Amino acid sequence: MRFFYICSECGRDFDIRPDLMVCPYCSKKQEKNKPLRGILDVEFDGKLRKEFDIYDLLPVEKKYFPSIPVGNTPLWKPVILRKKLAFPNLYLKDDTLNPTGSLKDRASYLIAAFALKHGIKNVVVASTGNAASSMAGVGAAAGIKVTIFMPKTAPRAKMVQSLQYGAEVIQIDGDYNRAYDLSLEYTKNKGGLNRNTAYNPLTIEGKKTVAIEVYQQLKNVPDCLFVPVGDGVILGGVYKGFRDLLTLGFIDKIPIIYAIQAEGSSTIYKAFEKGEFVAPQKSKTIADSISVDVPRNGYYVLKQLKKYNGRCVTVSDEDILKAQKELASSAGLFSEPAASASLAGFLKVKNEIKKDSTVVLLITGNGLKDIDSAMRGLRLKDYL
Ligand SMILES: *Cc1c(COP(=O)(O)O)cnc(C)c1O
Repeated sequence: MRFFYICSECGRDFDIRPDLMVCPYCSKKQEKNKPLRGILDVEFDGKLRKEFDIYDLLPVEKKYFPSIPVGNTPLWKPVILRKKLAFPNLYLKDDTLNPTGSLKDRASYLIAAFALKHGIKNVVVASTGNAASSMAGVGAAAGIKVTIFMPKTAPRAKMVQSLQYGAEVIQIDGDYNRAYDLSLEYTKNKGGLNRNTAYNPLTIEGKKTVAIEVYQQLKNVPDCLFVPVGDGVILGGVYKGFRDLLTLGFIDKIPIIYAIQAEGSSTIYKAFEKGEFVAPQKSKTIADSISVDVPRNGYYVLKQLKKYNGRCVTVSDEDILKAQKELASSAGLFSEPAASASLAGFLKVKNEIKKDSTVVLLITGNGLKDIDSAMRGLRLKDYL
C-alpha cells in the first residue's frame, strides 16, 4: 500500500510529512471563526485481502505503534435495552473501553506512531479534555513528551488524568479557541508535532478504525449508526472508514449516519439545514466534549453528510442526561454526557427507523470523566 494526502477541497495530492497539516493552497482561504479550509484526507493505492489486518489500512507501519492496547472495543447487544425499545438489532460500540476512556485514543495512537516513525519527541495539543488526557496517556506509553493547552473550565477528572500520565498542562484563562491559537504558536516557536483535532489530518484518519471494526464485527455494514458531533472529527473518521471499505470493494453502501449535536452547540446542524456556515454562537451544553463554537471539521463533514444521505439531529441537555441514566441503568454502560448523546438522538428519531434495522450507537467516552454532570442527571425524574 502507498499512502498520500489529498486535499478534500481541491484534490491536489501531497506526500505525508510531519510539517504538512492543511492544504497550502486552500488554507489561504481560511476565514476567522469558520471551520478549517483545506483539510487533508489520507488516500491509498493498492489492494487488500478481505481478511486484512486493520494496520494495513493505516499510513504508519505497525512496528511504530506503541504497546498500549487501543481500539478493538466490543460491539455488543444490550438485551434489556433492546427489549425496552423494541429494536432487536440494536448494538453498542463501546469506545469507553479504550485505555484512557475515550474514542480519542484512536487518533492519539496513530499520532504517537507517526511521531515515533519520524523521531519526534514531543506532541502538543489544545483540548478541553479528552484529546488531552488521551494524548497524555498514549504518549506516556510511547515515551513521548506531551504538552497540553487546556481551558481552566475543563472537567477536573480529565485534567487530573492528563497530569497523572505525566503531561505538561498549561491552563488557559480563556476558551478552546484561545488554547488552540496558543498551541499553534507554541509548535511554531518550539517545534513538536501538533495534534489539534481536524488540523492534524491523522486525527481523522486514526478515528476511522472504529468504523472498520464495526464492519468486521458485524461482518456487514449496519443500517444506521449514531455519532455524537462536536468538531466533526469522529464523524469524518467514521465516514472515512466506510469510504475506505467501499473503495476496497468490501462493502457496497455507506450506512445512514446520524450526526447528533447538543442544542446549545449545533453549528453543523444549522449549516446542514441552511447549506452554509453562519457566524458561530457561544456554545452552551452540559456535554463538554461536544461543546464547540467553531466546528473545525465542519466543511468536510457537511460534504460527507450531503453525499451519503446522512442526518443531523439536535438533543437538549435534559435529553442527554436522561439518556445517560437510561444507558447506565438498562445496559450497564456508564457514559459521559457527550457519549450519551448517541442514545438521546436515537430516542428522538427512532420512530422513523424500521424496527428490524441494524442500529449501532457509538459510545465515545466514560461516565467517570465528568461526575458533576452525572449528578445533575440523577435529580431528573422521568426516564423512558
Ligand atoms: C471528542 C468527543 C466527541 C466529539 O468528537 P468530535 O470529533 O469533536 O466531533 C464526542 N464524544 C466524546 C466522548 C469525545 O471525547
